[in-house]
Amino acid sequence: MYNPKSKIASEFICDDEIRSAISYAKENCDNRELIDGILRKAAEFKGITHREAALLLECDDPEVTEAVYRLANEIKHRFYGNRIVMFAPLYLSNYCVNGCVYCPYHAKNKDIRRKKLTQEEIRAEVIALQDMGHKRLALEAGEHPLKNPIEYILESIRTIYDIKHKNGAIRRVNVNIAATTVENYRRLRDAGIGTYILFQETYNKTAYEALHPTGPKSDYAWHTEAMDRAMQGGIDDVGIGVLFGLETFRYDFVGLLMHAEHLEATYGVGPHTISVPRLCKADDVDTDDFENAVPDDIFFKIVALIRIAVPYTGMIISTRESKKSRERLLELGITQMSGGSRTSVGGYVKPEESDENSAQFDISDNRTLEEVVSWLLDLDHIPSFCTACYREGRTGDRFMTLLKNGQISNCCLPNALLTLKEYLKDYASPETCEKGERMIKRLLQSVPRESVRAKASSYLDEIENGKRDFRF
Ligand code: SAM
Repeated sequence: MYNPKSKIASEFICDDEIRSAISYAKENCDNRELIDGILRKAAEFKGITHREAALLLECDDPEVTEAVYRLANEIKHRFYGNRIVMFAPLYLSNYCVNGCVYCPYHAKNKDIRRKKLTQEEIRAEVIALQDMGHKRLALEAGEHPLKNPIEYILESIRTIYDIKHKNGAIRRVNVNIAATTVENYRRLRDAGIGTYILFQETYNKTAYEALHPTGPKSDYAWHTEAMDRAMQGGIDDVGIGVLFGLETFRYDFVGLLMHAEHLEATYGVGPHTISVPRLCKADDVDTDDFENAVPDDIFFKIVALIRIAVPYTGMIISTRESKKSRERLLELGITQMSGGSRTSVGGYVKPEESDENSAQFDISDNRTLEEVVSWLLDLDHIPSFCTACYREGRTGDRFMTLLKNGQISNCCLPNALLTLKEYLKDYASPETCEKGERMIKRLLQSVPRESVRAKASSYLDEIENGKRDFRF
């Protein structure tokens, strides 16, 4: 029985409801009156339901698709402006006891070189990341209770936050580790993590079980209910996602939105972020073995529809996507992206590690962070290294309230400009610096409140004179 407020996986991600929503979409995909009504609702910028979104996805009238793209772009600009928050993944360990058939970390892969970073090696990786200009990381690790116990993850987080090197600092550590207990989520919260991220991979239970034949991750309910336990453990910023290409996109698109609706209905705050990874080639993983690859045009529409369905959720795109695809996705609602990423354990200090076979998957965007920043500036997007909300305690519903009230331009815009200024001073090439400074000068004028504008201006002067870490 479908119940978005239930804490039981099979009730809030209800197979019958997903199938019924897909049938409803197929039956009504030519019903222009109904579709126009949904587009009008979407234009109020308050979101649409999984059924309504499924119907818009199903309708292949180019006019409707164009309207969807236009709305996604408007929502992006209304709530997030042209800021893009930058981050990098940090792979701690690729030891894993699970049997995920699409992931090269799977326990039976004897080919991949296993590696777990020591605290000293983490320090070196983080210094390399700080020297690129990163302020925000996503920690990644395989699931291995003996090699990667929670104590190792917690110690690594402490190490990372403690590293002060030149003007560098990692100010927000997000964590993407396997589903765990309420008690462990509490410990992660106490360690000061930003978002807890866990991809569902697929919401289809039968497919999920076939794709995860062995290991703790094979338990569908344990995995699907992880965000409920995280919330119970006091983590109120959670990030969800689907690995597109595993199961059929219609099923997972609806399941993903139902998961967001469940969190909103049950905890009064939806997911902080939604990630949209697509399956990539990797060691021991051939994408040709998976028949559900999502073509670009459908993928772009999925991203735009997520933007419309959940306007208050950040959307993340990684370097799994190419430069060309990322450029398109910027217009459709993406708010965060990684840059200069390495998916190998130890890959920032030793880039050759990627060739030595410890990487998780092949990345498509191999540009440096500097190149990504410069490209964003050319596209008139602000590369932001902001971590202010979480450090000011604006998490969960407090963050959402700020967003919903449109206060972002008095807060996020100046914060983005201040952190961009830091990046330009400490890490950018002279050409990037010049472009960035021009942008800062121009956009400072669009901060609405005069007092905030004046304060931001004086903070910018202080950064010019060597001070760091200002925020609103
Ligand atoms: N081990 C953790 C877990 O069990 O959820 C998460 C860490 S894993 C390093 C991060 C994510 O990478 C996975 O959740 C999966 O969606 C994604 N991933 C795994 N194999 C991939 C592949 N071949 N291509 C693209 N993404 C992949």
